[in-house]
Amino acid sequence: MKAPLLLALDQGTTSTRAMLFTPEGHGVFTARRPVPTAFPEPGWVTQDAQDILATVIACGREAMEWASGQGHEIAAAGITNQRETTVVWERSTGTPVAPAIVWQSRQSAPQVERLISDGHGPRILEVTGLVPDAYFSATKVMWLFDRHPGLRARALRGELCFGTVDSWVTWHLLGGRHVTDRTNASRTILMDLRSGSWSEEMLDICGIPRQLLPEIIDTWGTIGLTAPDLLGEAVPLGGCIGDQQSALLGQACLEPGQAKNTYGTGSFLLLNTGQTIPQSQHHLLSTVALSHGGRTTYASEGAVFVTGSAVQWLRDGLKVFDSAEEIENLAGSVDDSGGVVFVPALTGLGAPHWDAAARGTVFGLTRGTTSAHLARATLEGIAYQTRDIVEAMTADSGVALTELRVDGGAAANDLLMQIQADVLGVPVVRPVNTETTAWGAAALAGLSAGLITSPAHLGALWEEERRFVPDGDNDLHDRGYARWKRAVARTTGWADDTD
Ligand code: ADP
Repeated sequence: MKAPLLLALDQGTTSTRAMLFTPEGHGVFTARRPVPTAFPEPGWVTQDAQDILATVIACGREAMEWASGQGHEIAAAGITNQRETTVVWERSTGTPVAPAIVWQSRQSAPQVERLISDGHGPRILEVTGLVPDAYFSATKVMWLFDRHPGLRARALRGELCFGTVDSWVTWHLLGGRHVTDRTNASRTILMDLRSGSWSEEMLDICGIPRQLLPEIIDTWGTIGLTAPDLLGEAVPLGGCIGDQQSALLGQACLEPGQAKNTYGTGSFLLLNTGQTIPQSQHHLLSTVALSHGGRTTYASEGAVFVTGSAVQWLRDGLKVFDSAEEIENLAGSVDDSGGVVFVPALTGLGAPHWDAAARGTVFGLTRGTTSAHLARATLEGIAYQTRDIVEAMTADSGVALTELRVDGGAAANDLLMQIQADVLGVPVVRPVNTETTAWGAAALAGLSAGLITSPAHLGALWEEERRFVPDGDNDLHDRGYARWKRAVARTTGWADDTD
């Protein structure tokens, strides 16, 4: 037998991947399957939970078969997942009662309005570290209960299970264990951030019966053995972690003050705050970064909903190009955006604005505007949204960011990374291993199997690939940013207007 490998099951929004890593962090195999997404009504985003599961199993099987063909043993597997996406299923059959409501979906905006108008906002923030927003799972469960009378009664009778994607997948892989890890639980609005357990008060506010919820477990440690018929053979499941927390771990941001930004469908900037629960005055979220053996590390998080998906929209909606990578050449064919500003609030605005009614808006169009200007404005819109987050974090902590570690699909775009460094005025650093989300999950497997001795060990494995140094033209970038802020102010509340 050759050296043992670690299996990461990475269930993302657009696709599921199974990746095999050596314990030193080298990726040796990837299987990938796209996950179909539906947009049943404006602002709604759903997926079939069975599709999600089927892609995890298919990718996992492919990876296991490859490993066994190469003579490798799999020491353990770890799961990382799109967060907040909500599944409710029947305990007796494992069948979902409705489509999975994806994190991006705005369909529970009326339930959020109710929470806000009942005055629960401040208490939700205090207990859970989250703001009332359709992003978070509990509001999606509230929507399901409102939409399908009878579900709450079934939940009270213990007939139903709620779970985020980690929970849904684990339930099936382990033949009916209903668990969720603390990083995922911290995204529901139902967990008390201090105690790390479900909050009776929040359950009460949201009208969600306790019987519906999974048991909260540590981020790593053997959870059980996968059912042998699913992945080809039984594998110890060594941990679960939300995708952004996984990337923070995979980027080895292990010390307070270290931060990473992941550029995928949306962008998520997480700053490690150590054992201190951040108390944001500027509308950022507080979340669990890692939890093990009674010790919890926290993070401050800025969640931006639409970044890479704005590029997807240019590709699929406007047919500006055929593949996302082409945006780099197109945007690079002009020196600037020609005065065009694109606020990509296609599903509202997340942190720090939290405006579900904002909508995508393009400003500054002239007869001279071309698709290249729009492409460049899209990349700038991604970079400015990150600056919004960094400014809020700096205002919260009083500490300026010294560098930003980056990853995710769109971090491959050199022009975007350079614009980002220029707009922030701090170096943007890309690691050799940009598969940080999957590597974080593999690292949990390694920790549980004893092949990685402690999270600190990951620091020694992290390697820089490229550093994007700011051009130093701060006046120019500050002017551009001021223009951006004017544009954001004008998108606010758009969908609330009665026409
Ligand atoms: P997720 O994990 O959220 O599914 P990924 O990390 O796989 O997303 O990133 C895919 C996203 O990044 C897509 O929205 C795509 O449009 C965008 N993207 C991919 N390559 C590029 C690129 N070179 N420039 C800009 N955006 C890109």
